Amino acid sequence: MKVLKFGGTSVGSVENMSNVKKIINDGAKKVVVLSAMSGTTNQLVAIAQDIKAGKAQDAVEKVNQLHEKYKVTIDELLNDTALNTAVKAYVSEVFAFLGDCTSKSFLETLENQIVAQGELLSTYMFNAYLNQEGVSSALLPALDFMRIDENKEPDINYIKENFKRVFDNTPDSQIYITQGFICLDAEGEISNLQRGGSDYTATIIGAAFIAEEVQIWTDIDGMHNNDPRHVEGTHPISNLSFDEAAELAYFGAKILHPQTVTPVRVDNIPVRLKNTMEPSAHGTLISNLTSGDGIKAIAAKDGITAIKIKSARMLQAHGFLKKVFEIFETYKTSIDMITTSEVAVSLTIDDDKNLEAILAELEKIAIIEVDKNQSIVCLVGHEVVNHDDTFKLFQILQDVKIRMISYGGSQNNISLLIDSEDKINTLQKLNDYLFELVTP
Ligand code: ADP
Ligand code: ASP
Ligand code: MG
Repeated sequence: MKVLKFGGTSVGSVENMSNVKKIINDGAKKVVVLSAMSGTTNQLVAIAQDIKAGKAQDAVEKVNQLHEKYKVTIDELLNDTALNTAVKAYVSEVFAFLGDCTSKSFLETLENQIVAQGELLSTYMFNAYLNQEGVSSALLPALDFMRIDENKEPDINYIKENFKRVFDNTPDSQIYITQGFICLDAEGEISNLQRGGSDYTATIIGAAFIAEEVQIWTDIDGMHNNDPRHVEGTHPISNLSFDEAAELAYFGAKILHPQTVTPVRVDNIPVRLKNTMEPSAHGTLISNLTSGDGIKAIAAKDGITAIKIKSARMLQAHGFLKKVFEIFETYKTSIDMITTSEVAVSLTIDDDKNLEAILAELEKIAIIEVDKNQSIVCLVGHEVVNHDDTFKLFQILQDVKIRMISYGGSQNNISLLIDSEDKINTLQKLNDYLFELVTP
């Protein structure tokens, strides 16, 4: 059995929902994971932010606007009167709940409940639509089986057991629809897998029952060799290894949630990226096979903080780096890039929640410099470090200031740290230097 995930654009209009129906209705039993309709999660986040800022009236207006949008969509989607009425009643309950939230005081748990509504709405509507169209489908509530532990990692044994229970309890059905993104946390409160998390839901479910394949259906024909939002002339890559895809996702290729391939790589479950608007396009197949060599793709991750730790006296002393790493360990902050010289070590983090506390500790043992608003540009491909054409990337040094380079940490990845304001220029120039000349 396969798991197919459809993103926000794929369920963002009645026309696209009808495309999704055609794609999934091939007679085969499958699990279908849906995101919220595009724009909904952003709007729900904005509602939560208004509540946090004490702007209850702005929140109420946003709730009402979104409700109106859903009523219009339901009228377009469901011409069956009974289904139309039933779905509108459900949707009204959701918006009544959101309306109530606007007068509550802000808590993280309240925000999590608010942002969870997007996936609950889209799956309820789409399930009704399939019923109207005579397609046999059932809803599997994600909150009945999807859970994260104290470290915010999927609780895989719980998920396996409960997914099987929910699945087996459901009468024979061709399509099993569930919500992406949402889950329970270790305390049983509603939580989520972070923005873009529906991809992760799909691979967690795929791993839970060792699916034949996980498909991520989106609005583009697969992983491109550079960020199509910023660079002209990008093209899709047909095949990626799990390692390559994991690096690209982790280092900012928005098409995949950073953790997407983690659950499936051990069991070698292939992940296929496909375009809902162009189902015949090949897309990208992510598997344990490596193909081609040289730099295949470039991605960039923003919001990076660089920390330089200088200590002429101590750097060469045994145990200095250990002390530094222990500080990051204490604050559960992972380090992405690291370079050293005789007198200093520079490293980067993307989670600056505990930055002040980390700096206070580091200042006890060294002199610290901090640069915010940095971006990591990551170049990925099989054995890139050894490839004859890789030197061409260093032409970038004539165009932008590079703060750090990580070369040789793995055979498949070279990372550059730059000021975020140089990102678009860097991506475009690297594209020109590398892909105009190197056959991908
Ligand atoms: P969905 O809502 O289906 O999950 P996303 O917006 O999360 O879709 O991801 C698809 C988008 O990712 C594309 O529309 C594209 O703009 C962006 N993107 C960024 N980098 C890449 C890349 N390297 N290859 C393909 N798409 C990318
Ligand atoms: N709806 C969520 C988001 O917008 C999850 C997802 O789309 O994958 O982040
Ligand atoms: Mg996404």
